[in-house]
Amino acid sequence: MAIPQSFITELLSRVDVVEVVGRYVQLKKGGANFMGLCPFHGEKSPSFSVSPTKQFYHCFGCGKNGNAISFLMDHAGMNFVEAVKELAGQIGLQVPEEERSPQERERAAAERQKQATLTDVLEKAGEAWRKQLKGSPRAVAYLKGRGLSGEIARRFGLGYAPDGWHGLASVFPAYDDPLLLESGLVIVATEDGSEARRYDRFRDRIMFPIRNVKGECIGFGGRVLGDEKPKYLNSPETPVFHKGRELYGLYEARQALREAGYVLVTEGYMDVVALAQLGFPNAVATLGTACTPEHVQKLFRFTDSVVFSFDGDAAGPACGAQGA
Ligand SMILES: [Zn+2]
Repeated sequence: MAIPQSFITELLSRVDVVEVVGRYVQLKKGGANFMGLCPFHGEKSPSFSVSPTKQFYHCFGCGKNGNAISFLMDHAGMNFVEAVKELAGQIGLQVPEEERSPQERERAAAERQKQATLTDVLEKAGEAWRKQLKGSPRAVAYLKGRGLSGEIARRFGLGYAPDGWHGLASVFPAYDDPLLLESGLVIVATEDGSEARRYDRFRDRIMFPIRNVKGECIGFGGRVLGDEKPKYLNSPETPVFHKGRELYGLYEARQALREAGYVLVTEGYMDVVALAQLGFPNAVATLGTACTPEHVQKLFRFTDSVVFSFDGDAAGPACGAQGA
């Protein structure tokens, strides 16, 4: 999609880089500029400066610099079009998409609306499961037994989906809402080809929310507490969740990837969380699929070096990656 340069210029003249950066970095006024800890390299005293007059950021430590668009690309892992759309959305500007017909534009708007609704539904389920974790001594004991602190559990938003077929009915009074099916939270089994029975997909499982790079909840992984099978259960593919594109833990790890200079790609959510607990917050996991070129491309937006750490069984990685 080609975005006219005139639009980019207008966009940059209307957004405020201080506000954009300030959502991610704590900034303090220092003279004409704002200063903060650089999000691109590890440091203890601020050398990252944001200029409201030049609409530019610059780090005196590592030399990183740019405008509001490049900040979202470099720090939030968005591509150019995503960054432009994000900024335009924030100030209520419509990105011109000349090559699209009105019908296509309408369809795209409906699609965006649907995606926003789905992530809201998923977020609500995740919140309920986080509360239920606190109320389940057995689930808490399981996580403690795996060596996880409460702080790590909070950082990853872990929850617990209790046993029972209709646990989510208490969270979503309209349990027959098609959105619950579409978001993958509920399964509909058809009996005799007509009568439908609905039930929760995730039951008696530790719940790992899967976030996109913007931090929105797009699905879940659920792990059993014992030896039942399947050990791991993922949300199905939905309009917001594409396993071949998403990586578990990328949102949580994005800052650590820059500091460590590499990413560790593992096979399971528990690996990612356990590694973070052990002091390796720079791990992510594929979601029960082989590692795709799209995964690797996404990782290279955050780091130059990708290290695979698989069990070495038959389900090992199906693609390699060279670090730069
Ligand atoms: Zn820096």
